Amino acid sequence: MRALVVTEPGGAQLREWPNPNEVAGEVGIEPLVVGLCGTDLELVDGTIDATYVRYPLILGHEWVGRLERDTPGVGPRGARVVVEGIVPCGVCAACLRGATNVCAVYDEIGFTRPGAAAQRISVPERLVHALDERVDSNDAVFVEPMAVVWRALTRVALRPGLRVAIVGDGTIALLAAHLVRLFKPHSTTVFARRSQQRDLALRAGADVFEVTAPFGEFDLIIEASGSLEGVSSAIDHCARSGMIIALGLPPHGTTVDFAPDDLVNNDVILQGSFAYTREAFTEVVRRVNSLELRPSFLITHRYPMVEAPSALSSLRVVSNTEPRGKVIITNISPDAPLY
Ligand SMILES: [Zn+2]
Ligand SMILES: [Zn+2]
Repeated sequence: MRALVVTEPGGAQLREWPNPNEVAGEVGIEPLVVGLCGTDLELVDGTIDATYVRYPLILGHEWVGRLERDTPGVGPRGARVVVEGIVPCGVCAACLRGATNVCAVYDEIGFTRPGAAAQRISVPERLVHALDERVDSNDAVFVEPMAVVWRALTRVALRPGLRVAIVGDGTIALLAAHLVRLFKPHSTTVFARRSQQRDLALRAGADVFEVTAPFGEFDLIIEASGSLEGVSSAIDHCARSGMIIALGLPPHGTTVDFAPDDLVNNDVILQGSFAYTREAFTEVVRRVNSLELRPSFLITHRYPMVEAPSALSSLRVVSNTEPRGKVIITNISPDAPLY
């Protein structure tokens, strides 16, 4: 089969790769559309913490596919599905309390096991979620990153009327603006680096879009830039009894200085959030299937599989004029329908 492979850190190539065997408890799926994100670039470059990756690696952790065979409890052959990427062991203490994102055995599709940028993938049946027939695959390809954001937002106790700031202008920041509106904030301000992201941010649900370092005071600050300045500014601009959610991933090994007495005196919650739980993923699928969440307007770049390396470079190049939301790969099999 054809797959987008990182043989070793430094580059990704389209190449022939052995077809996966479907082992007991797994089901074969034909990927239809795959989303790419900054994490894929880190996987290509090898800058991600080595604990979370195994090479050679097929990329693809945000995706929609269709079942290769009738799958009881999921759907008939050909039904479109999304699949939880984190493969929890199900028996460790974390799994037993529902914290499947921090399972004792880290295992994730597109990180430690083959991803979906391939003509075929075999995945544990228990992690497969059927999509409603009405759902557009271009919306469903956002389930995985939305689950990441959903889990972060539900990690703290959000109440209506919060003054929300989002630091960053990438897809996770835009999805944060899109999802936080479900918690009825007083206002949502996006602090961006690229002015050309304005329309996407406003469409996602931001009330205010500023191209500057954060200023003012906020009850909830979502750090989605992954920059050390972003983390510092979140601490500086958090209101008393406010909350900071750290969602952007700064480079592995970097550190930031802050005055810890500010956290104490200001009664601040500083909350990290890693990936998503089964519960968060399931909740996002439910909201996508009910058509409540339709983020496909965030797709700005599409490439057929044969141009997958260009898709990766389009993520790397920061344009000064063109907005960039989600980059997706379509036509994964040569004869696959165009999404
Ligand atoms: Zn991603
Ligand atoms: Zn576990």
